[in-house]
Amino acid sequence: MVTDISNNELQRLIGEQINLPSPPTIAAQILKTIQNKESSLNDLEKIISMDPALTSKLLRIANSAFYALPYEISNVNRALSILGTNVIKNIALSFVIAGNLRGESDSSFDFEYFWRRSVTAAVAAELVTGLLQEKDEDIFVTALLQDIGVLIMFLSKGPEYVATLEQCSMDRATDLICAERKMYQFDHQQLGCTLLENWGIPQSIVRPIRYHHEPAVAPEKDRRTSSVLNVANLLSIIYSNTETAENVRELQTKMADFFNITADQTRTLLDNVAEKSLDILQIFEINPGQMKPYSQMLQEANDELGKLNLSYEHLVLELKESKEKSERFANELRKANIRLEELAFRDGLTGLYNHRYFQEILGKEMTRAQRYKHSLSLIMFDIDFFKNVNDTHGHPAGDQVLISLARAISMAVRPSDIITRYGGEEFAVILPETNQTGLKVFAERLRRCAESITTMSKIVAIKITISCGGVHLSPHDNVNQQELINIADRGLFLSKKNGRNRVTILPIESPAN
Ligand code: GH3
Ligand code: MG
Ligand code: MG
Repeated sequence: MVTDISNNELQRLIGEQINLPSPPTIAAQILKTIQNKESSLNDLEKIISMDPALTSKLLRIANSAFYALPYEISNVNRALSILGTNVIKNIALSFVIAGNLRGESDSSFDFEYFWRRSVTAAVAAELVTGLLQEKDEDIFVTALLQDIGVLIMFLSKGPEYVATLEQCSMDRATDLICAERKMYQFDHQQLGCTLLENWGIPQSIVRPIRYHHEPAVAPEKDRRTSSVLNVANLLSIIYSNTETAENVRELQTKMADFFNITADQTRTLLDNVAEKSLDILQIFEINPGQMKPYSQMLQEANDELGKLNLSYEHLVLELKESKEKSERFANELRKANIRLEELAFRDGLTGLYNHRYFQEILGKEMTRAQRYKHSLSLIMFDIDFFKNVNDTHGHPAGDQVLISLARAISMAVRPSDIITRYGGEEFAVILPETNQTGLKVFAERLRRCAESITTMSKIVAIKITISCGGVHLSPHDNVNQQELINIADRGLFLSKKNGRNRVTILPIESPAN
C-alpha cells in the first residue's frame, strides 16, 4: 500500500516529479530560530517585528475574539509572553505561508477559494479542539496547512493536475487521493508532509497531516488529531460547497463517531465556525465570499420557502376567487341574456308576447302541427270602441284597461296557449292542439272574460267588450302563415261589422264574405 511507503522512497518519488518550493524567507527564519536552542524570545520578536504587515496581523489576531483576552496586547513582545512562543510562532507561520503562496488571479487554480477553505478549516479545528476540551497549540496551523500538498501539486504540475482536480473535485477527497496515487504514486497528504518536513516544520504538525483524509489508518498517536483535521475539513466544505445538507449529515455522523459529540453540539459548532472564520478571514485578507452561519442559511431558506408557500396559497386563493367570479359572471350573463331575450319578445305595457314573437311562434306552431298532424287554432281580437275609452278617460286609463285585459285573459288560457299583443288594442291567441269545437268554446270564454273586466279609473269603472275572429287549421289544410292570419282577421272584421262583442269563426276552405 502506498501509505506504507518509506520516507526515503517517498522523498525519491516526490523529488523525481515535483519541484518543492523553499519556504518563504520569514518562515524559514522563524523555523530556524525555533530549532536553535540558543535563540531567545527576543530573536523571534525581532524577526516578526521586522515585517510591519505581519506584526499588525499578529496583533490583530491576538486581540481578536479568537483568544478573547481580557486586555489588549499592543506589541509582539507582550504577545509572546502572554500567548507563548509556540502560539505566536504558529500564527506567524500561518500568515507568512498563506500570504506567500498566492497565485495570479487569472490562474486556473482558485487560490482565493483554497485559502478561504484552509483558514475556515483552521478555525474549525481550533473550535473542535476547544469543544473536546483539549489543548493543542499547533492545531490551527496544522489544519491551515493540511492541504498544502494540493497547492504544491498544482504549482508543479499545472493544468495536468487541475484536470484531475476538476474530475474529482477537491471536496471529494477520497476520489482525489486515489487519482493522485494512480498518476504520481503518492498523494497530496504525503506531498504536503514531505514539503513541511523539508521546511523544518515540527513533526507534531506534519504527522497528522499525512492522514487527514483517512484518520482510520493513522498511527494511534496521530489518529485523534487526524480526525480533528478530517472534520475541520468537512466543516470548511460545508461553507464553500452547495451540497450543504448532505455534508452536514456526514459531519454530524463523524462528530458522533469520532468524538461522541451530539447533533445539537455540532449545530452550535457549525455556527461558531462561520462567525469566527469571518473575523479571521478578514485578518488574512481573504474574501469570505457568501459565508454566513449555517442557522442563518437555514433561516433564510425557510423564509424563502415560507414566501413560496404563501404565494402558492395566495395563487390558489386567487384562482378560486377568479373561478367563482367567472362563474358568477357567466351566471349573470346567462340571466341578462334571458332578460334581453324576454325584453325583445315582450310588450312593455302588458307584459304579453309582442308582434315579433307572435310571427315567429305562429310559424313554428304551424310547422309542428302539420308535421305531427295536430290541430291548431288562432284567434284575433280587438277592443271595441277603444278610442272612446281614451277620449273619455284619458290615455293612461286606456293603458290601464289594456293591462287589466292582458292579466285577465292570461289567467283564462291554458299554459300551452300563447297570448300576444298584435298591436294597439288588437290581440292574437295561438291555441296549439285545439280543434274547431275547442276554438269556439275558447273564443266565447275570451269574449265573456273581457266583458267581465272592470277597470277602475279614479272613481269611474270602465267596462269594455271585444270582437273576435277565429280560424282552425286542420292537419290536411294547406295555407301559409299570412293566409291564416288574414282569415282570422277577416273573422274579426265580420264580428265588428255584425255588431261587435261577438265571435266569428271562419273555415279555411270557404272564403268569407
Ligand atoms: P273599433 O271598435 O272599430 O275597434 O273602434 P276603436 O275605437 O277601438 O278603433 P280605432 O282603430 O278607431 O281606435 C283604436 C284606438 O286604440 C286608437 C288608439 O289611440 C288606441 N290605442 C292603441 N294602442 C293604445 C295604447 O297602447 N294605449 C292606449 N291608451 N290606447 C291605445
Ligand atoms: Mg278597437
Ligand atoms: Mg283597432
